[in-house]
Amino acid sequence: MLRIGCHLSSSKGFLAMGKEAINIGANTFQFFTRNPRGGKAKELDTKDLAAYLDFAEEHGIAQILAHAPYTLNACAKDEGLRQFAYDTMCDDLRRLEHIPNAMYNFHPGSHVKQGTEIGIGYISDLLNRINEKGYHATILLETMAGKGTEIGRNFEELRTIIDRVEENSNLGVCMDTCHVFDGGYDIVGNLEEVIEEFHSVVGLCRLKAVHLNDSMNLLGSHKDRHEKIGEGKIGLEAFRAIVTHSKLRELPFFLETPNDLEGYQREIALLRQMAEA
Ligand SMILES: [Zn+2]
Repeated sequence: MLRIGCHLSSSKGFLAMGKEAINIGANTFQFFTRNPRGGKAKELDTKDLAAYLDFAEEHGIAQILAHAPYTLNACAKDEGLRQFAYDTMCDDLRRLEHIPNAMYNFHPGSHVKQGTEIGIGYISDLLNRINEKGYHATILLETMAGKGTEIGRNFEELRTIIDRVEENSNLGVCMDTCHVFDGGYDIVGNLEEVIEEFHSVVGLCRLKAVHLNDSMNLLGSHKDRHEKIGEGKIGLEAFRAIVTHSKLRELPFFLETPNDLEGYQREIALLRQMAEA
């Protein structure tokens, strides 16, 4: 069965998210570990978490995806900002120790004017430091659209980061369909070639999740503006090909489309229908 869910607000806690997910036909979900713009996370409500874990088991939610605040910049020029990214990620990962199988997704960051080489060095240094802590969650680097000086604009950059982390068996990649399309990978005209390229550069064994988003903009636009499924430049047929592809269909899919819960419910039903047809 297709594993699919959407991004949910974590403000009401884990049990509320689990119930919301099941109500809209999802069997997984993504959430921000704290305010996406940063700031302090609430301490874990252990009662809520215990109730959620029971609920998740009962309803077949096997794995969820935590998303780091997108303002973190692991490759900032300022050492204080890099330390802040490290402290925040450690704090998130410490809390995720209480959630079995959780994965943790982050945006690699923007090198600003320092250049890709220095930026990649900072990101892998940070991951090496994090790994000294021995957290269990799989850490995912997200494929980026290449807006401004974003790192992760192509598969090679992600591969280089992973290669420079000594103990890298806990590292994976989350492929965002809007971002890779905006980054110039033609998942509409040639999905097969993009998957092969990912495999030869990074390795499909590293691909752990997919963000399913349509794009408001054209191939290679480097813009990063998400659109509802089927209403953007990627289009419904490409999504059908993605959720039914033999190398992708076992992965968990997460919608981050501009929708309310009803909209997500419709998209989940549509994608399930296409996957199970
Ligand atoms: Zn993201």
